[in-house]
This record gives sequence, structure tokens and C-alpha cells, in this order.
Amino acid sequence: MAFRSDIEIARDAKKKPIQQIGERLGIPSEHLLPYGHDKAKVSQEFIASLKDRPEGKLVLVTAINPTPAGEGKTTTTVGLGDGLNRIGKKAVICIREASLGPNFGMKGGAAGGGMSQVVPMEEMNLHFTGDFHAITSAHNLLAAMIDNHIYWGNTLGIDERRVTWRRVMDMNDRALRDIVVSLGGVSNGFPRQTGFDITVASEVMAILCLSNDLADLQERLGRIVVAYTRDKQPITCRDIKADGAMTVLLKDAMQPNLVQTLENNPAFVHGGPFANIAHGCNSVIATRTALKLGEYVVTEAGFGADLGAEKFFDIKCRKAGLKPSVAVIVATVRAMKMNGGVAKADLGAENVAAVQKGCPNLGRHISNVKGFGVPVVVAINHFHSDTEAEIQAVKDYVAGQGAEAILCRHWAMGGEGIEDLARKVVQLAEAGASHFAPLYPDDMPLFQKIETIARRIYHADAVIADKAIRDQLRVWEAAGYGNLPICMAKTQYSFSTDPNLRGAPTGHSVPVREVRLSAGAGFIVVICGEIMTMPGLPKVPSAEMIRLNDQGFVEGLF
Ligand code: ADP
Ligand code: MG
Repeated sequence: MAFRSDIEIARDAKKKPIQQIGERLGIPSEHLLPYGHDKAKVSQEFIASLKDRPEGKLVLVTAINPTPAGEGKTTTTVGLGDGLNRIGKKAVICIREASLGPNFGMKGGAAGGGMSQVVPMEEMNLHFTGDFHAITSAHNLLAAMIDNHIYWGNTLGIDERRVTWRRVMDMNDRALRDIVVSLGGVSNGFPRQTGFDITVASEVMAILCLSNDLADLQERLGRIVVAYTRDKQPITCRDIKADGAMTVLLKDAMQPNLVQTLENNPAFVHGGPFANIAHGCNSVIATRTALKLGEYVVTEAGFGADLGAEKFFDIKCRKAGLKPSVAVIVATVRAMKMNGGVAKADLGAENVAAVQKGCPNLGRHISNVKGFGVPVVVAINHFHSDTEAEIQAVKDYVAGQGAEAILCRHWAMGGEGIEDLARKVVQLAEAGASHFAPLYPDDMPLFQKIETIARRIYHADAVIADKAIRDQLRVWEAAGYGNLPICMAKTQYSFSTDPNLRGAPTGHSVPVREVRLSAGAGFIVVICGEIMTMPGLPKVPSAEMIRLNDQGFVEGLF
């Protein structure tokens, strides 16, 4: 069976002018700032005017631990938005913007897939409305001002060896991970070691995504800790006096971007923080704006529910006061088989026993998400190789866990293929059964918060951390950061810190390698294992296949 690629489908989209999409949400055209014919930003004044409106219902799309078989969270988020609109609900989709790094590397696009995509897909995956450029510039302005401060006499007494603020670029480039700057003589400053991270790993990205408005943005930017003095006192962005200019650079980037799905339904695509050292969700401002304008908002969190949903609940919802009504956990028959020990090359053959063996991974995510008080439904994202017996095996397993699994054919059929799930989501949301509460209270000691996540979500026996790490957490508690939530950075492939341990492992321990303070974003990053903040390109990067064809169309962007 031959399938059209995502980009071929997207190219045939019958797009409506973006003003019409905005009109359906009640956004007057003077408050829609168009970027071409099919993209627009929503004005700050309009967003501010929505303050006292009631909010719609928030639906989180999350998933099992990712496998190389692919799960399709974004595809399902977009599909469910279309499905809800089809059954007569005013639904808005909220997803993240794409990073150039993975696009030219190997991950694939960020606009969904098949018949469930947002368009313009090419632009969304490339420069889009320039938000990532603005974030990169704001971040690097601060970096330049730090080195400049040191150059002109260093009145703040910054220890050049303790500058923690690196530079960023939106590209996978391992050559820039560790570099020496200011070489070349006296007029170029004081040589020191530093490096680049990818833009999505910038704290500025996380801040933009968690800020309520421009004033909050500037306040949070000011709090960023950029360096330490010789006696280890923190130096902030406000000390460097960069927060005002950074806010100016970010003022347009703070406005959510409106686009549409292949079925002409509204989608906000805004922000894109890393899901490991940051929280991995689209912006609070886009989600909240969508909630004021729609009856239903469908949004996605990165990675599996152990990382993505946990951070969505414990960081984004806690801090923004959002109350999710329903969570959809995306699973695929193929991924269940991989969890059950089948190799990728053998996924095409029916194997009910392997599906059954892999299901406990899904089961644990179901009980974890229910633990937040949010009703759960499972979406089986249908692949054409799935057999009836395999699908039934997943449904039976999920029924045994006190939830329902619904087969969804949105990838092949668009919204029409996911109406059953849409109806179930509405039923759960309207029953008002959600009693959302974060996993731990703000005032729990930091180490105990880490232990709570490890025990309750990862089902680990213990958290292992050196005295130096525990001491650091106590220093932050004494400095007033003890009420911050935790942002776990661990492998997305397993509940444990071992990426090869699939299924639902128990009895493991969680070793903490490092802790970092993101004072502006407002969380403590807890790093377990190797975490890459500047990815590299694979041996054969997608970039080798990306080109313009004779008609001027982009080829190879998936
Ligand atoms: P995630 O958000 O979980 O990373 P995406 O939704 O971006 O995943 O999907 C990743 C890729 O998998 C996309 O290229 C998409 O077209 C493909 N995909 C998703 N669902 C299906 C499906 N049911 N059948 C075939 N391919 C799919
Ligand atoms: Mg995705």
C-alpha cells in the first residue's frame, strides 16, 4: 500500500484565509496580526481583554514511553481537535513550534502527520513567525552583555570560571558544545571556556512558555542566575541590566501564533521548550487564550506520561492554575509489541502475546495519570499493519485497568476517524470527574519532591544522590527557592534511568547526577544520566534529502 508523505498531504491543503479562522474564534481582524495569508499572531491587547471570560475544558494528550515504532502524540492532538469540531464542539488545538535541529537531523516534523496536520506545515517546521530567532537573540544578548561587563572592569565581581549562561543556536551542532571564547588578545576580553546549547534548551524559551504576560516575562528574565562571584554569590540577569532589552526583543514572540488544521480548525502553535531540562509544553499564554476562546482545548506534552504529563501537571498546570479535565494516553499496537520484546524489523507480523506482554507499560501510565485526579482514556493510534486480535488485546487489557481504549483512525481519515474518542472525551469532561491536584505540595523539601516523583511515578525504590547534591538543594532552600517544583531530566525511553529497560520496571533506583537552578523559569532541574543540551546530527542527516524541486516546493521535509 502506497501512502502519501506528510508533506505531500500538507501541500494539497485547502487552506482558508487566517482571518476566517480567527473570526470563528471571535478574534476581530484588527487584533489578528497576519504573517502572510495563513499565519497570524494574536495581539496582546486582545488577550488582555479576555481576562474575565470563563474558560473551556482542557484535554491533555500524552503517551506511553516512546519507542522507535512511533506513537503519534501530535498527530492525535491535531486529530482529536478536528474530531471534536466535527461533533459540534468549538475546539482549539495547542501545540509546540518546531526546532530546526531535529528537522535537519532525524526526528521528523512537529506539525502532526497523515490527515491530521496543521498547515502551513513547511513554514511551521522552518522559520515560521520568527519566535525562535527572537528567543535566540534575547538569549545571546544576555551572553554578550555578561562578557562585555567583564571586559569593562567587572564591577559585579563575576568569577569568569563560574559564568553559567551559555550561548544558543537553533541547530544540531556538536562542534559547539564546548568552546573557548575571547581568544585573540587583550581587546577581545578574557578567554574562558563555555559552549552552545540548542535554542529550545534556553531558559528564555522555558520562561516565555511559562509567563502570563510581558510584565511577568520581564520579571522572570530578571531572575535568571547567569554567573557566580568568587564567593559563590549569584549574579542575575537584572544585575547585568539585560532584562528590559530582552523583553523588547521578545515582545512579538510572546504573542501566540494562530494557524489551521487540514480541516480548517484553529490551532495555536507557540513556544517549544525541551522536554528534558525544561517542561516540554507549549506556552501558557497560548493555552490560556485558547481556553478563553474555545469550549475545548487539546494540548500535548512531550515524551511519555512519566516525564511529559508529570511536568505538565506539576509545573505548567500548578504554576498557571490550569485544571485539566481529561487526559488521553496515546498507545500503538506496534509500541506495545516493542515493549513486549519484538525487534523493530519484526513489527509487521501479528504477535498478540507480545502485545499483551508490552501492555504493563501502558497500564502504569494509566494509573499514574489517574493519580493526579484526572480521568483517562486510551487512544489506540491505528497503523495499517495492526490486526483485529492485537487491537482487541489492547482493549481488553485497558478495560482490566478500569479505563477504555478507543481505536482512532485519524492519521488515515482525519477527524472522521477519531469521533468515537472525541465523544468519549466530551462525556468524561462533562461528567466533571476531574479532581486535579499536583503530585506534591509546594512546601515539601526539594529532595523529598524528587523522591516522591521517583517512587510514585517511576516506581523506583530509592533516589541516590551525593552529599554535594543534597547540600546544594539545602543551599537553594535557604535562599528561598525551596517552593519551586522539580523538572526531571532523565531518559524518555523507560520509567527507569536505563533506556533499555522497557515495560514497567520496579526495584530500580534513580541516581541524580546534577541539579540546576532555573530561577527565571521557576523550577529545579534534576539531571539523571546523560542529558544532551546540544544534540548532534546523525551519520546521514535528513538535511541531505531536503531540497527544492523544479516547481519550487520543498522536498524531504518528511
Ligand atoms: P509524536 O508527537 O509522538 O512525536 P507525531 O505525531 O509527530 O509523534 O508522529 C511522528 C510521525 O509518525 C509522523 O511523521 C506521523 O506521520 C507518523 N504517524 C503518526 N501516526 C501514524 C499512523 N497511525 N500511521 C502511520 N504513521 C503515523
Ligand atoms: Mg509531538
